[in-house]
Amino acid sequence: MIKKIVKEISLGSGIAILGFLVWKGYDILPLIFIFGFFAAVYFLAESKGMVKPVGFQKVSSGKGTTGITFKDIGGQDSAIKELKEALNFIINYEQIKKLGIRPLKGILLTGPPGTGKTLLAKAAANYTDAVFVATSGSEFIEMYAGVGAQRVRKLFKTARENAAKEGKNNAIIFIDEIEVVGGKRGSNSSHMEYDQTLNQLLVEMDGMKTDDSVKTLLIAATNRSDMLDPALMRPGRFDRHVKVDLPSKDGREQILRIHTRNKPMAADVNLCDIAKETFGFSGAHLESLTNEAAIYAFREAEKEITSHHFKEAVDKVMMGEKLDKRPNQAELRRVAVHETGHALISEILKPGSVSTLTISPRGNALGYMRQSPEDDIYLYTQDYLEKEICIALAGALAEEAIFDSRSTGNANDFEQAERLAKEIVNAGMSSMGTVAKASIPQDRMHSVVTEILQEQENKIKEILKPYSETIIEITDILLEKERLSGDEFRKFINSEKQLTA
Ligand code: ATP
Repeated sequence: MIKKIVKEISLGSGIAILGFLVWKGYDILPLIFIFGFFAAVYFLAESKGMVKPVGFQKVSSGKGTTGITFKDIGGQDSAIKELKEALNFIINYEQIKKLGIRPLKGILLTGPPGTGKTLLAKAAANYTDAVFVATSGSEFIEMYAGVGAQRVRKLFKTARENAAKEGKNNAIIFIDEIEVVGGKRGSNSSHMEYDQTLNQLLVEMDGMKTDDSVKTLLIAATNRSDMLDPALMRPGRFDRHVKVDLPSKDGREQILRIHTRNKPMAADVNLCDIAKETFGFSGAHLESLTNEAAIYAFREAEKEITSHHFKEAVDKVMMGEKLDKRPNQAELRRVAVHETGHALISEILKPGSVSTLTISPRGNALGYMRQSPEDDIYLYTQDYLEKEICIALAGALAEEAIFDSRSTGNANDFEQAERLAKEIVNAGMSSMGTVAKASIPQDRMHSVVTEILQEQENKIKEILKPYSETIIEITDILLEKERLSGDEFRKFINSEKQLTA
């Protein structure tokens, strides 16, 4: 990628210099001849394979080289199972030939960023004892017509040549971000170049024969399978689509175990609890989380990573780095009241749900209250969504209860509450009943959303009425300690009074 940028900057500067010389009245014809000569030599050398095309990352097979095996990938059991089955067709080629099964040509890995698609492709190369050649869709795209198609040809050729050189029977080509090169034809503004590149890819895939001495398998990854050209998706090209989703709670625990294997862990660290708190994290987030926890331990000159380091790291990955900006005392008090409001309503409506409560600024937030979901949730009921709206609005209403006014700190909470209210409407759970989402008039949507939000606001006002004293007491503790864990928060409120809705 860097090489490509340097190349394009050099070209741009070259043209600018030539323009400048013309403007100054110099004769640039000899320069153009010299430049043309070198360009011709370069392209000739590239087409003969003497110059390596930009971007192909060649990684050979074998444990010592790509180093990645399926054991290094957590939380993707079903993806691994599907992938292994397809790979077994390559390994047991003679057996499947007897049954007349045609080995697969292409496997498409789809899923959100950072879930392990590249890792799966690397592990596949190890599993099949194949040479591994990796590139990314963006490496094919240049402004010059025909270059992309030439690079596709080169990619397949390189894979076959590398396999032959290393005496291997199999080659795996991995193209990340396939949507860049495999997008629907005609959809791009400079579509001739894009279309030529995709056509070449289709030609190469059609030319992959099962009786070749080197069997080639194309593995591609994308976060946007909806953008791909139907010709790529048809059987005979990408025959198998493997979904690589965000990991479940058990999956997250597995990934945490993998990434803490090489780290000294204190006895108080419970990876199951951390997995519970990290709903929505990808494998890449979890890897970063373990790394950040180790950095916190290093900063504190500790020999082991403790659960406190992990808590800080979860906040860092979720919210961003702690900020130096310090709000003034009055602002800090308001932030503490606001976060206490969120926490109190969260604990009343969903006992045991508060995980952390803090007034130290991080990322875009001056303070925050984090919930720990009991279980991963994939279906939301009306009751669940209404409770979440209440928790989102509770910060503003706590401010109103204590200071008799609200602040701009509530803007994000309102956006979240509005989004949740719209989900209620779109799922047919509002007073409008079942609706066709696209044909709801804007003012009708506005009035139903306002109705839902108003109803929840009234509910929170009623709930908060007896708790003004409690809010002030927790605010004072928060101003002194800056951060309360869910357990500390619960210990305090349980010693004060029994919470009731
Ligand atoms: P993108 O779509 O952005 O290219 P990706 O799905 O290809 O992302 P990878 O590059 O495979 O993601 O993962 C990035 C890093 O995240 C890996 O190097 C690894 O440290 C970690 N990681 C991601 N998923 C997993 C997983 N399932 N198990 C273990 N580690 C993982």
